[in-house]
Amino acid sequence: MLTLKIRLINCPACKREISSQAVSCPHCGQPVNSNYISQANPSVSPYRITPTQEITYPNQIGIYTPGQIAWATFLGSALGGGILIAINYKRLNKDDQIAKAIVLIVLGFVILLIASAVWAASPIIVSGSQAAIMYFLAGNWQGKDITEHINLGGKVASSWGATGAGLIGAVAAIMLLAFFGILGIMS
Ligand SMILES: [Zn+2]
Repeated sequence: MLTLKIRLINCPACKREISSQAVSCPHCGQPVNSNYISQANPSVSPYRITPTQEITYPNQIGIYTPGQIAWATFLGSALGGGILIAINYKRLNKDDQIAKAIVLIVLGFVILLIASAVWAASPIIVSGSQAAIMYFLAGNWQGKDITEHINLGGKVASSWGATGAGLIGAVAAIMLLAFFGILGIMS
């Protein structure tokens, strides 16, 4: 994974922690001369640079927003959105959380099957409901990290990626429904 070492410095105006790469403070808007900081000798810099706060931050890679996750879920049910939640956790270096996304995908598919078979609900209504739930969960689980990523100068992932994940989910959902539909006819 492509990562970039980013130093945290204190904003000269509001004193809150910001990335040394930031053009301006995301908290108060204070413009920050990043060239000056990177070239300056830390010992004479007016900005307090604390090497112990150095973190590896994946700001070069895109993170999916809750809106993109909801869009992928609408297109491709829980698999579409779940893929993006898993990718986000991977890119945020939170591999231990990926299991949550997998549980969500499996649960989403079970609900999709039950809704289609038992309640004969329209897949569009099921996908819409799942998209709303996924939007809420993504915001709860990753909203803080996503905001922090963007504030530190990180990118938002491409909407084409979100659409692609949605289409993969859609194909998987259609195949799964067809598979269980065939079983239903045979029994
Ligand atoms: Zn500030």
